Amino acid sequence: MEKGKSKSVFAQAQSTIPGGVNSPVRAFRAVGGEPIFMESASGAYMTDLDGNQYIDLINSWGPMILGHGNTLISDAVKEAVTKSLSFGTPTYAEVEMAELICSMVPSIEKVRMVNSGTEATMSAIRVARGYTKRDKIIKFEGCYHGHGDSFLIAAGSGAATMGEPDSPGVTRGTAQDTLTVAYNDMEALKATVAENKDEVAAIILEPVAGNMGCVTPVDGYLQAMRQLCDEEGIVLIFDEVMTGFRLAPGGAQELYGVTPDMTTLGKIIGGGMPVGAYGGKTEIMDMVSPKGPVYQAGTLSGNPVAMAAGLQMLRFLNENRSLYQQLESTQQKIVAGFKSNMDKLGLNYSINAVGSMFSIFFTDQSVKDFETAKSSDLEVFGKYFNAMLERGVYLAPSQYETLFLSTAIGEAEIEKIVTSNYEALKEIHS
Ligand code: PMP
Repeated sequence: MEKGKSKSVFAQAQSTIPGGVNSPVRAFRAVGGEPIFMESASGAYMTDLDGNQYIDLINSWGPMILGHGNTLISDAVKEAVTKSLSFGTPTYAEVEMAELICSMVPSIEKVRMVNSGTEATMSAIRVARGYTKRDKIIKFEGCYHGHGDSFLIAAGSGAATMGEPDSPGVTRGTAQDTLTVAYNDMEALKATVAENKDEVAAIILEPVAGNMGCVTPVDGYLQAMRQLCDEEGIVLIFDEVMTGFRLAPGGAQELYGVTPDMTTLGKIIGGGMPVGAYGGKTEIMDMVSPKGPVYQAGTLSGNPVAMAAGLQMLRFLNENRSLYQQLESTQQKIVAGFKSNMDKLGLNYSINAVGSMFSIFFTDQSVKDFETAKSSDLEVFGKYFNAMLERGVYLAPSQYETLFLSTAIGEAEIEKIVTSNYEALKEIHS
């Protein structure tokens, strides 16, 4: 596979962009080699600067759930562009967006639009702190909630990938207010809450974690957490930046039947445009300025072009609910194919999957938290990533990221993914 153009652009990028990329995982540090620069994408495929094609299993880290180049969305964007790129005033599209989100996501009675998942989670914990008049928050090891200071403690995703789960630059004071607990360990959570009685404002988690690879909640975990928060007056925040509108029209909270007090969203609600949102119970959201005293604002929040894209995306998902079964069935076929490949090759790696999210971990342990996720052999992961890339399948360039499917992945792509998996596993174990 010829990669000369990507190589030379990466060399050029190093002098003006830190590490040559605008988000660390893109640099391929964890997998060796150099990043591929993309030129265009259509349906299930991305094309790089050298003209190579790849089946896309990251889908912009989630938003492209309908695949690339969906014309409903791009036509809405084109129309919005003719009106204005930005007004800085309220627009009707924002009201339509708020109504649609409130009607789809069980926990959300009021919602505020922001520009990224990072902004959504930063704002949500500020509101939870303002509402409870408490300072501490609890997060889980290996969960990632964007790069807000309070969350760069035992963080997953790129922070884990780069070996920087606790980032320099976060003050000791901020770090002290973030308590961390192992995911899926209810007893540890209860103990931490008890040790910090009446001091915890919020518990924030990914209801299905995607940032230590895909890790699902054990039976009853989310329910028990809901009960604990009710008993202790703690605001339960589901960070559904990845899972929102992906695991079900109402996200993981609909799938698992547990309603948090607040929810953070991103990715899919922008249909590929930069958007995030946070919402929840009226009583809590009415703390937000100008209705309440907790300040949060944004020049480009509710941007008309982003709203036009997101509205089309959410309406489509809302009206075509069978696509969630289609996505799940695609996942099941891929995972069954991988398991059968491993049987043939005498391998016993662990696979986690739910809906259109899944991960292989190069360990025989079952992965239920960050500790077990870290038992994956990262050297084998790196070889696997590169062997799949050479075969035209683009995976997340880190073990600590889930894969995302799109509805554009059909039978031909499933076959190609499964065959490539067999060949790649065979090659790295020969
Ligand atoms: N929360 C979760 C669960 C995420 O996965 C991410 C990003 N992958 C974020 C928050 C941050 O979102 P953004 O990158 O849009 O700031």
